[in-house]
Amino acid sequence: MNNSSAVLILDKVSKSYGNGLAVDEVSLNIRENEFFALLGPSGCGKTTLLRMLAGFETPSSGCIYLDGLDISPLPANKRPLNLMFQSYALFPNMTVRKNIAYGLEMERLPETEIRRRVDEVLATAQLGELAERKPDQLSGGQRQRVALARALVKRPRVLLLDEPLGALDKKLREKMQLELKRLQHESGITFIIVTHDQEEALVMSDRMAVLDGGKICQIGSPAELYENPNSRFVANFIGVSNLLEGVRQNDQTVTVNGHALRVSVDLAGHRGEALAVVVRPERLQVLDEQSPACDNQVDGRIVEVAYHGLDTNLHVQTPLSDKPLIVRVPSSQFELAHFAPGMAIRLGWQARHARVLSR
Ligand code: ATP
Repeated sequence: MNNSSAVLILDKVSKSYGNGLAVDEVSLNIRENEFFALLGPSGCGKTTLLRMLAGFETPSSGCIYLDGLDISPLPANKRPLNLMFQSYALFPNMTVRKNIAYGLEMERLPETEIRRRVDEVLATAQLGELAERKPDQLSGGQRQRVALARALVKRPRVLLLDEPLGALDKKLREKMQLELKRLQHESGITFIIVTHDQEEALVMSDRMAVLDGGKICQIGSPAELYENPNSRFVANFIGVSNLLEGVRQNDQTVTVNGHALRVSVDLAGHRGEALAVVVRPERLQVLDEQSPACDNQVDGRIVEVAYHGLDTNLHVQTPLSDKPLIVRVPSSQFELAHFAPGMAIRLGWQARHARVLSR
């Protein structure tokens, strides 16, 4: 993690199309060497934001500063930012080496420098052995690496990536997520990635911004957003949440469907206020006679068992909500306890493991 100064500053950037506001007063600081993810559901404005950074769209209002300079007047090809598109079209008739060198040749750099930089990037992207192949002789993941190498070789101040792993299958995606993170780290270039896949953002980014309806809902590290979501929307969007709707009694108690739950609310508010209590599936414990006391306990019945390999999710119907609670247990515990649909179990959790949200 680094705390160095901002390389890119967005100051109240908005974009409207006709009557619709695609991006609504977005302010953001992106730091040097940071892997930053813009995350949100379809239509939330993340691609529009990226296109404004790249210079393919003009903000309706607001400013974008790169290294302290307003880049709004600069056309896309004069900005030290490089956008890697969703469909990373490579030149089919050129070798990998030629594809990567192309951008530097356009800049008319000396041949020796081009060769040196291309060799360097070929090594970083682990493409050395494939340098003389053409794109149609490569796998999807390898083509993706060539596209990245082609962007990195130009040493942009910031690399913008729009759903870069969107075309790859799940297994390759997971591999490339780590690869991208490594490339970012080794190149020292700031990466801004757009994705709708929360897991991808959690794995790769140093910090992320969650967007909804053109606005930023929350900015923080993956752990901050997962552990301390500031709204129901973020709690639902990042990871799996059990959201229990209730009413504030005092700073230690929220009533949910007639059940007093112990919590620790640090939000200012009034008695009778509608609040949501959020408990992550891994924070819920299945209790037995030997279990130590829990601040909150509730009886329920298993309605579904979903095996995920390492873990198993139990869906448990309780009197707290219409929706079953999701409880994650290690599969080893699952095998021992013979959990099955229909089984009555008791769940428990500590007050400090629940978050309380007013929005
Ligand atoms: P997705 O994940 O589906 O790509 P997104 O978060 O990237 O979505 P944007 O493409 O930024 O969303 O679009 C934000 C909003 O702006 C959407 O409502 C979209 O319909 C609208 N929009 C985007 N481009 C245009 C355009 N050129 N003209 C009119 N409306 C547009």
